[in-house]
Amino acid sequence: MEKTPLQNWIAGRLGVSEASLTRESLIDYQLKKLRETLDLAINRSTYYRKNLSKYPNKLNRLEDLLQLPFTTSEDVRNNPLHFLCVSQDYINRVVTLQSSGTTGKPKRLYFTKEDQELTIDFFHIGMSTLVGPGDRVLILLPGQLPGSVGDLLARALERFRVKAIPHGIVQDPEKTLKIMQEEQVNALVGIPTQVLSLARYWGGAINKYQPQLKSVLLSTDYVSQAITRQLKLSWGCQVYGHYGMTEMGLGGGVECQALAGYHMREADLYFEIINPTNGESVPDGEEGEVVFTTLTRVGMPLIRYRTGDLARFIPDRCHCGSILRRLSPVKGRVRGVYQLPAGPLTIGELDEVLFSVAGVINYQASLSNENGKDILNIGIFMNHGENGSIFDAIRRNLNTIPSVYHSEKKGCLGIKLLILSEQLKSTAAKRTIKDLRKSEML
Ligand SMILES: [Zn+2]
Repeated sequence: MEKTPLQNWIAGRLGVSEASLTRESLIDYQLKKLRETLDLAINRSTYYRKNLSKYPNKLNRLEDLLQLPFTTSEDVRNNPLHFLCVSQDYINRVVTLQSSGTTGKPKRLYFTKEDQELTIDFFHIGMSTLVGPGDRVLILLPGQLPGSVGDLLARALERFRVKAIPHGIVQDPEKTLKIMQEEQVNALVGIPTQVLSLARYWGGAINKYQPQLKSVLLSTDYVSQAITRQLKLSWGCQVYGHYGMTEMGLGGGVECQALAGYHMREADLYFEIINPTNGESVPDGEEGEVVFTTLTRVGMPLIRYRTGDLARFIPDRCHCGSILRRLSPVKGRVRGVYQLPAGPLTIGELDEVLFSVAGVINYQASLSNENGKDILNIGIFMNHGENGSIFDAIRRNLNTIPSVYHSEKKGCLGIKLLILSEQLKSTAAKRTIKDLRKSEML
């Protein structure tokens, strides 16, 4: 098993050899970069000048960072231009994220050419975990606009002579499978449910195409084990996970060949895990909210940005031998824990049980209230050509979720299942459970 290539990359940034990289030297580097970021933010950004003025602006040790306030999604949404540390003329790419929050304002993130170069560099190194020169990668991510995730990834792959084939979101699985065959694709990068729908369509159709995949990288949404299992089974390929978000500069961390958690982009980002309720750091190994600070970004640095994602650091050394820390797969969102009468429910739990059922390619879930009783509504998207005789299997699987089982047993929860049209409107948005219970009660 090869060590994550991120280790050599980070050692290069520190100017030391890969073998002599230690956690201590990495922490020294991160502390130096944190100081630079803090100086930049306080001197140049209106937001941080105002919000950090009453805090000591000298970091003597990493722990001093914990005294600084968090930056939230709302802060960025309310006044994105106040975060800028360069003139707008230097901004090369603006990403607008539509709001799922309370204000309804979209969130805007600004990147300079240098910021984007850092992302390409990370994608280049991260992708070398799973592909090499001569490989042919189909990119099932939005990539038409310069600076979009698909575009930066394609540019990263070209750097080490990997053929990038931009495709975009899958609209017609038959057409995508045909392209895979014609282009002799041997690796895919895509959104978990999209790649699952391809595999299930391929498995359910008369197999005129024979994909020869060696690796798949899943990104953008939560990576459920059920989907990973299915892809390995269908195509006999390795399935890697990537964790990232636009705020991180798209890339955040990628699994190594040990496939046991993400090695993080520690040369560009400093990560913390905090208790989402009181904001305090949690011990390594304990689950909490992922928080990061940019170390090298110049356009719009972010200090202690709360991601809203739940995960934990994995305390043991990775089997690949790297000294880099690992983050567990994201378990869900801080605001994505829904209370049923007999306990909590997350979309991660629904993913595991629903994607395990043959023929399911996606679903929509909501919670409603009818005559004082909670109802879990699940609309299932089925693979083309398969019928809806799967309700028994779905009910059986749902009963393995403790909160669902006990709530239903107590007579406090009803379950409504529905097969939705096979024409699934594909998007790159993260899926959530819609909670309609409160609005109905108003
Ligand atoms: Zn590893």
